[in-house]
Amino acid sequence: MPEWPEMEHYRQELNKRIQNRKISGITVNRPKSLNVSEEEFRKTVLGTVVERVDRRAKQLIFVLGGERYLLLHLMLDGMMHLGTEADKPDRSTQIELYFGDTALYFIGLRLGYLHLYDKRGLEEELSSLGPEPFDADLTAARFADMLKTRKGNLKTCLTDQHWLAGIGNCYSDEICFAAGLLPSRRPAALEEHETARLYTSMRSVLTEALRAGGYMEMPLYSGDERTGGFNELCRVYDRGGEPCVRCGNPIVFQTLSSRKCFFCSNCQT
Ligand SMILES: [Zn+2]
Repeated sequence: MPEWPEMEHYRQELNKRIQNRKISGITVNRPKSLNVSEEEFRKTVLGTVVERVDRRAKQLIFVLGGERYLLLHLMLDGMMHLGTEADKPDRSTQIELYFGDTALYFIGLRLGYLHLYDKRGLEEELSSLGPEPFDADLTAARFADMLKTRKGNLKTCLTDQHWLAGIGNCYSDEICFAAGLLPSRRPAALEEHETARLYTSMRSVLTEALRAGGYMEMPLYSGDERTGGFNELCRVYDRGGEPCVRCGNPIVFQTLSSRKCFFCSNCQT
């Protein structure tokens, strides 16, 4: 599932390409991906301008004129492609938004969705999310305080969207690895220098992953060479059995609190 770096990368790229563009056509192949009738969706969205694309947690928000918002969650299998009919990937699409000749294709939206909200509906929908990793008031001191009262382990803590928004299975493992901490550690029992390291690692791993274009494999547009660059740079995620880049020991794959979890049992403590 795309996480903070993938969605932030998408947000930046889409703002470069569709900001202030008018939605000139809509195709709905899977009405279930919407939260309103196809007719209402079309009536409200067609002809509006995408004022900008925002992001909250793992979701994108297409801010439309007239205080209407499209909330996109790609969930497990969702992807996007921006291009013309000629370079559209050979995959079935659930929704297509047209900007003249170019379309934004939504692919693999089975659990994912594109929901239409007014301002109040959007606020309600997002109200239970925790702080963003780069919120100015999420200081190292506040982060340490948040960990102190937290039950469970680091893996469940970092991936809990109500506690901290935007991190999932991949980056929780990458952050724990960068911090040299086992994902099974109890957050409340961490030493002060360990919480400090976890905080720094959270920000540095996410920054690096965004710069590399995240881990989504499908290019966003034809000629896009940045998207997916982080695949090569993952240190532990999906690398079970491979030698640890830090110490050479094989990376361990385990299920922790029913989540996939990868770590080095030698240099993470
Ligand atoms: Zn190691």
